[in-house]
Amino acid sequence: MKILGTISALRRVCHSAARPLVLVPTMGALHAGHLALIHKARKIAGRSGTVAVSIFVNPIQFNSSIDLASYPRCEGADQRLCKESGVDLIFRPSSVKQLYCSDHSVFVDEEALSSGLCGAVRPGHFRGVCTVVTKLFNLFYPNAAVFGAKDYQQLAIIRRMVRDLNFPVRIIEHPTIREKDGLAMSSRNARLSIAARVVAPGIYKALLRARANAQKQSAREVVRNLKVDLNLIPNARIDYADCLDAASLRTITDWTHSAIIAVAIFLDGVRLIDNIRIPTRKT
Ligand code: AMP
Repeated sequence: MKILGTISALRRVCHSAARPLVLVPTMGALHAGHLALIHKARKIAGRSGTVAVSIFVNPIQFNSSIDLASYPRCEGADQRLCKESGVDLIFRPSSVKQLYCSDHSVFVDEEALSSGLCGAVRPGHFRGVCTVVTKLFNLFYPNAAVFGAKDYQQLAIIRRMVRDLNFPVRIIEHPTIREKDGLAMSSRNARLSIAARVVAPGIYKALLRARANAQKQSAREVVRNLKVDLNLIPNARIDYADCLDAASLRTITDWTHSAIIAVAIFLDGVRLIDNIRIPTRKT
């Protein structure tokens, strides 16, 4: 397994790497969710292709310096997990300067799907995501890249970016990997207090109830009841909870579309996101 820290080394290696090259972009603090993406990448790359993982806590997608500073970083464990999972290549920039010059002034903005949900409450977040993913695509020239459905809005925006900017990269979706109790795996879970970790599975339970309610209630009622359920979780504060068209990410009021319910919840100050698809209702 090669571990590269500079752009020049990465370009050299990617130029001659065995193809297909499948990229899994991450911010590190790897868990079983990331590893599932890596295994999917291996399936697509085959034995003779290259599985590459980028590990970079991208400062420009954070809109709070406290959040950026407290984001978990676990270099040694990440490296070990990648090795055990058969990763061929890790790119872990040796410094932020590797990717951002001090006078960096070009960014990639998606202007429709980014406006709601996390985009509305974290201004500049998706501009940071699109910019760093563009850079990674320009550095690795991957044939495919794997993204998790846990970050549903991010996945939709990356697909849109690839379509609209004609990146020759296949975007592969991987379903959300959960703890046994239903909590969506996330690097941020490590920051939950013991008490918050105990009640955190309530988020997915509320989503499951919302999905069941969607068979008999209007979208408005489903969201209203979902918020009631989420507010019953001790010390939870709802950042957003909404029913959306799965393609346009616009709020829906009826079930004629393929829909998704997405939530962001602060639990003792830690922000967790999750979502669930709603099967189209036969009326
Ligand atoms: P992150 O390191 O949190 O930026 O995540 C890197 C990639 O892993 C993104 O494509 C995420 O959607 C994906 N990911 C994170 N958590 C999970 C999970 N529990 N299940 C599936 N994919 C995940």
